[in-house]
Formats: sequence, structure tokens, C-alpha cells
Amino acid sequence: MTIDSSEQIKRVLVVGGGTAGWLSACHLAKKLASSSPAGVQVTLVESENIPSIGVGEGTVPAIRDSLRYLGISETEFVRECDATFKQGIKFVNWVRSPGTIGPDYYHHVFDYPDSGAGDLTPYWLQNGNSRSFVDAVSVQGVICDKGLGPKDMTVPEYEGIVSYAYHLDAAKFARLLTRHGVDKLGVKHVLADVQRVNLGESGDISSVTIDSGENLEADIFIDCTGFASLLLGQSLGVEFVDKRDVLFADYALAAQLPYSDSSTPIPSFTISTAQESGWTWDIGLSERRGTGYVYSSAHTDHDRAEAVFRGYLGDDEGRISVRRIPMRVGHRETYWKNNCVAIGLSQGFVEPLEATGILVYDATARMLADTFPARRSVMPLVAKQFNRAVHYAWDRVIDFVKLHYCISQRRDHPFWIENCDPSSIPESLQEKLQLWQSQPPSVYEFPSKLEIFNLANYQYVLYGMEFATDVGPHVLGRHPMMADAVSRMDEISNFSSRLLGSLPEHRTLIERIKKY
Ligand code: FAD
Repeated sequence: MTIDSSEQIKRVLVVGGGTAGWLSACHLAKKLASSSPAGVQVTLVESENIPSIGVGEGTVPAIRDSLRYLGISETEFVRECDATFKQGIKFVNWVRSPGTIGPDYYHHVFDYPDSGAGDLTPYWLQNGNSRSFVDAVSVQGVICDKGLGPKDMTVPEYEGIVSYAYHLDAAKFARLLTRHGVDKLGVKHVLADVQRVNLGESGDISSVTIDSGENLEADIFIDCTGFASLLLGQSLGVEFVDKRDVLFADYALAAQLPYSDSSTPIPSFTISTAQESGWTWDIGLSERRGTGYVYSSAHTDHDRAEAVFRGYLGDDEGRISVRRIPMRVGHRETYWKNNCVAIGLSQGFVEPLEATGILVYDATARMLADTFPARRSVMPLVAKQFNRAVHYAWDRVIDFVKLHYCISQRRDHPFWIENCDPSSIPESLQEKLQLWQSQPPSVYEFPSKLEIFNLANYQYVLYGMEFATDVGPHVLGRHPMMADAVSRMDEISNFSSRLLGSLPEHRTLIERIKKY
């Protein structure tokens, strides 16, 4: 059967060349340009005058799958993007107010806290006081503490002895994706400013006008123009749903710092330190550190935020150059309207506490490529599914980020007190927390294939933060394998000790990969 030419979708125009734009272009070109008989031409237009946001250095393990799928070598990626391995996030000062002794904890050490004895959590809750949750269920906290990498040079690309993600230089990552998209996947690259978005009679976007006066036409447009959302927001009028009533942080200060010398150890985890009105991130790349302070402008002023950040950096004299970035917290009411799909900051954004930006943009770009409409007439049906899935993803991301605040026992500043006010906690999260006071979380509370964060993620955060679950007889009666669980926890501990003797120091591993 031939498809009427007005029905065909053969030209995709991605507008915007930040991480989201290039990830989208690469996914679409990888899937469609090679697999469809006629081929879909993917073009990306980006401005040389409007800079990319240039931050976004933490990822989650799903990125490994995408890089491998797109055909990028891990060695090249580590070399070109100053990338290092990220085995988790260490949360410092999140559990209790300053001045009280509270534990720091790790999430997301990416090994699932499961074993031959099943989920160890109920047993740890009853009997695990001698070890932190992370050390009871996983080897990875110990590896992080000792500054080791997640693998050695004998392990193939993208595989690890334990699981991992990366820290990366966002600008260099976009450049790597650009080269890969253009040279290997056939993406056409146009450098120009989009000055006007032109709508046809149907309400679809027909073309965009660039600064030379030329119109770039396409059948479908991907809005990757960052917070501006030039196509979906400004031209098609899709409203932004502000989520600052749940997640208060709306500004970031960012600074890049050189290492004092080239042998400074590099942590293989992000350090997130709670501060009076937000938190700081600290990320070690191979060539520098990336740091920032994410804060709520409703709870502090910019001068005070800068003083807190400089205090963290040990820079009271103000020598370090600091950039202030406003953040639009929330998401669009809908993400695909007519023939326009938003991916990236144009789609939605929440504070980068759990590195959800690249994760959601990468996942939704791949979903778009995988479910790409075969013809124009089915586009509304595909769009409906896409909107439903992306909405679910953002709701779950918001719940999970909020979890870190609302179970904290910090009460030292209005920012922390108000974060625990039930009026700021989504009902979906309140219900779960109520349930988990009486029994540990189970896999059945995470039923969708589209869960962004799963049981293990919640367990690490809940029990890293001393969340209290009542494990009385009503719970323990259902988990009778205590002896097996205890011996499994001992095995995990023994395995940790063996890994300490075999895994390389993190910086050494990165240097070996770069020289390879
Ligand atoms: P941008 O990087 O802003 O790119 C927009 C693009 O659109 C640019 O190429 C620009 O030139 C182009 N453009 C705009 N207007 C026009 C026009 N008129 N004509 C032509 N081109 C145009 N994510 C993570 O996963 N992990 C993190 O640790 C993380 N940390 C973050 C920290 C902060 C403070 C912030 C704000 C974000 C963070 N993010 C993080 C999110 C991360 O920045 C984004 O994932 C990522 O950079 C995607 O941005 P983008 O491509 O949507 O937008």
C-alpha cells in the first residue's frame, strides 16, 4: 500500500543544539534514517548566538545503554567529555539539622539491594543496626568510600564489576554528539538563528524562518530550545505547569574549579551537601571540578546564597567566578501538540538532585524514535500515548525528588520546615509514605514500565534517611528467612573486602582509559 504524500513524515527538524537537541537528533537518525526504506532526513538547526545552558554533569546508568546503542565508544566518550565514573550520590547533612550528629548516606549506588535470599530490606530493618542500609545490601558504598572505580581494564566497554553512570562535561558531550550525529548518523546540521515559527491553516508548524530569511520546512518539529520553548510554548501556546509549590529551588549558582594538582583523587560519586536553603553539588571530572548551589529564592536572597556557596568553596575573598542560573521548575501541560514535540528543558525540568534531566530527555527522545508515527493521520494517537507517558514520568520524578526533603529531620531553616508541610507534598507521595510506615515498600508500588525511579531507589533514600517502618510481627511473619538473609549480608561484606584488593583507584582507572 502506498502512503499519500501529504501523509508521509520524512523530514524532522530539531530546533536547538544542547544536550537534548543532539540526543534527540541522534536517536531519531539512528532509528529512522537507517531502518525506514525511504529514510527520514533529520536536520538540526542551532544558534551560534544563543548559548546552551552548559551545565548538567551527572547521569544515571541508563546513559550507558544509550551511548552503546548510538554506536559511541566508551573510551572515546571518556576521553572527549572529560568523563569520570559515577557510582552514586553521597548525601551529606541531609538527615538532621546541623549541630546534631546525623549519618551521611549513599544513593544511588546502582546495585539492586536484592539477593538469593530475596529483598534484604525487611531483615535489615529488624536486625541491621550494626551496618548502614547501603553496606548491608550492596558492596558499592565501600568501594565509593575507598575512592575506587567500578571496574578494571579487563572489563569490556560499558560493563562494570559493579554498575555505574558518568560525570561529564556538558559542553563537550554536546560536541561529541554533534560529530557523531553528523558523521556517523547522517544528521544535517544548520547553524542559524530561528527568528519566526510559521503555522499552517491546520495549526501545524509548517516551517521556521532563519536569520538568512530562508524557511526550513519539515513534517515534524522537535522543540529543543531550552527554557525558552520557542515552538511548543511560545508559538503553540502550551502552558507551563509551575511546580515551585512542591519543589522550591528555582536558582542555581555554578562554578568550575581546577584541581590543585593532577594527582588529586576524584570521587566516583556526586557529593550533595544540604545547605540552609537548598544544597550544593560537587562533581569530579577528569580535568576539573564542577560545583553549584541550588537554592530557593523564596527562602533566601541572592547575596546570602552566594555567601553560602563561597563558604562551601572556601572562597570568602570572592576569587572564583560564579554564574547564576534561573531555573524554571515544572513541565509543560502537554509535550506533543500538533506536529511539535518538546524534549529537553523546553519539556520540563526540576532541580538536578537526582540527575533527572538527561535521563528524562534521553528516555523521551528514544521513545519518540521508537514510536515515531508512520503517517500524519496517526500522529494524534501516538502523541496521546507520548503525552501520557511523559506526564507520568515527570510526576514520578517530582515525587522522588520531594521525598529527599519531606523525610529529612532538618528543621534549622524555613526552607526545611516548609518542605515537610503536607500542603507541599503530592498526594501520591503522601499515600506511599503512609503505607511504608506500616510495611516496607514493595515492587508492586512501582507497577509501570515507565517508572523513572524504582523500588531500590526509594529504599536507598528512605533507609539512608532513617525513615521509620514498623517491622512488628505482622511484617516479620511474612519474611521468615532471617538466617539466610544474615548470611547473605555477610557474603556481601566479604565480597566488598575482596573488591577492595582488586579494583583500581578511580583517577588511575580514568587515566588508563584515556591513554588506551
Ligand atoms: P540548552 O542547553 O539550553 O540548549 C538550547 C539550545 O537551543 C541551544 O543550542 C540554543 O542555541 C538553541 N536555541 C535556543 N533558541 C534558539 C533559536 N531561536 N534559534 C536557534 N537555536 C536556538 N541534567 C542532568 O541530567 N544532570 C545534571 O547534573 C544536571 N544539572 C543541571 C544543573 C542546572 C543548574 C541546570 C539548570 C540543569 C541541569 N541539568 C542536569 C539539566 C541539563 O542542563 C539539561 O539536561 C541539558 O543541558 C539539556 O538542555 P537543553 O538541550 O534542553 O537546553
